[in-house]
Amino acid sequence: MNGLEAQQWQTLQARLRQDYAILLAQLADATILPAVLPRALPHEVQASPSDNASSRALEAQSMEAAAHTLQQLHGVRHALAKFTAEDYGLCESCNGPIGYSRLNARPDARLCIRCQTRTEQHSHNWQK
Ligand SMILES: [Zn+2]
Repeated sequence: MNGLEAQQWQTLQARLRQDYAILLAQLADATILPAVLPRALPHEVQASPSDNASSRALEAQSMEAAAHTLQQLHGVRHALAKFTAEDYGLCESCNGPIGYSRLNARPDARLCIRCQTRTEQHSHNWQK
């Protein structure tokens, strides 16, 4: 069991659906660059010369922002899919309940706090 009450489950699902809509709207507004979403690229960006530093910096910045939004969108979509599969609220590593307080703070959390901490320590060690 995921340790969530039906009402908590519904609240989190509603929040994720809302997040999803907001992120989609943000992406639609953003200046999307070829590397991120080729088909959504506005014509004026395609045509603009990127041979000065400030426009390159701007492009890098908006690409980073768009990539970040896309990443969040994937996370939220992933979480919503878990509602359909009815395994939302379970840690993807140890299969234990993630817990409502953590999900309330991060509705798209994929790992319980214990596995998350372990993963972070792991990746820190990797970088050394
Ligand atoms: Zn876990």
